[in-house]
Amino acid sequence: MDLSYILNELGEERENYFNAVSPPIIQTSNFTFKTVANFRQALGNEFEATLYSRGHNPTLNILRQKLAALDGAEDALVFSSGIAAISVPILALVKQGDHIVSVENPYSWTIKLFNNFLPKFGITTTFVDGSDVKNIENAIRPNTKLIYLESPNTFSYDLQDLHAVSQIARSKGIITMIDNSYCGPLFQQPIRLGIDLVAQSATKYIGGHSDVVAGVLTGSKELIAQIFDNEFLNIGPSLSPHSAWLLIRGLRTLPLRMQRSFETATQITRWLQLHPAIDKVIWPFSPDFKQSDLARQQMQGCGGMFSFTLKNSSIKNIEAFCDHLKHILMAVSWGGHESLIIPSIAGVSKSDYNKNDPRQQLIRMYVGLEDVDYLIQDLEQALSRIS
Ligand SMILES: *Cc1c(COP(=O)(O)O)cnc(C)c1O
Repeated sequence: MDLSYILNELGEERENYFNAVSPPIIQTSNFTFKTVANFRQALGNEFEATLYSRGHNPTLNILRQKLAALDGAEDALVFSSGIAAISVPILALVKQGDHIVSVENPYSWTIKLFNNFLPKFGITTTFVDGSDVKNIENAIRPNTKLIYLESPNTFSYDLQDLHAVSQIARSKGIITMIDNSYCGPLFQQPIRLGIDLVAQSATKYIGGHSDVVAGVLTGSKELIAQIFDNEFLNIGPSLSPHSAWLLIRGLRTLPLRMQRSFETATQITRWLQLHPAIDKVIWPFSPDFKQSDLARQQMQGCGGMFSFTLKNSSIKNIEAFCDHLKHILMAVSWGGHESLIIPSIAGVSKSDYNKNDPRQQLIRMYVGLEDVDYLIQDLEQALSRIS
């Protein structure tokens, strides 16, 4: 299916709403039925019906079709946050006594799900360095039900060989799931590489304007329907029609924004690598990236987020650099129009800072849609403030 068709037409039945180009926000909680027979049918199979907006809603259905097609998946569900699109399917896939193999250091709230929440139900997780498939394979136990991936990671950018992992999992009947937020559907399609379920935070690139929190899950119709009929309807993580409409609007310009962010990141990472105050830059499409071959093999492009370290990574230096940035904003999240920075040390109390821990030295930058020179000037003046 053509990308242009997906983004501009798929799912949009304009004749049903006055031929409006932009779809309506169907802001309703419930839908009426003319006959008991029709009502009974909808109650009996809510997955195929529009009954109540905790389940399906026509504005969301337009979005679901587009998101499924972008991932090359049979179906999609949209959630009120990215973490809901991760937590809800995991709750659907495991039960008491089951085991999960996860990559080490996934997204912070995913770690908390595995470490704090799931143990309450007797579900255990083993974390492994996923850069070698053997580590994943060796961690599999007879009760392993799920292999959880995040490639690239959004701080260290570690990758997993998605095809290789999916082959191992299939041979053992284990479900695979990935957090694909970093690349999104335009730069990586895990389903085509054999992964079963793909989650992403739509708060990031798909929303694209830092004004909506949402998540996406794609996969086979069978898995998506199973999750919808049980955990999705029971936990109630549905997205509002208005937020869904903002995501449809975000999708119209997704290719332009991602390409821009990718190109600007290419230039800025190169510039930083040559700067005397910079120690190293970590970005999957940098020529010296440790898994560069795998990145170029399974990703069609690279997100505009990378990390770097200063030659002198004292707390004083990291703070002076970040505090002096004028245009690059200090905030969580990414994927919007605005460039952002997060120093790892913002999440560490000063007394716990370990200058020799490479993860604590990282400064993460997301490149938005600003002009490259505007961003480089800002970096330059802030770097001139450090020793
Ligand atoms: C932001 C993010 C999430 C969580 O998404 P929310 O929309 O904030 O709930 C999950 N994974 C990654 C990699 C993220 O960056």
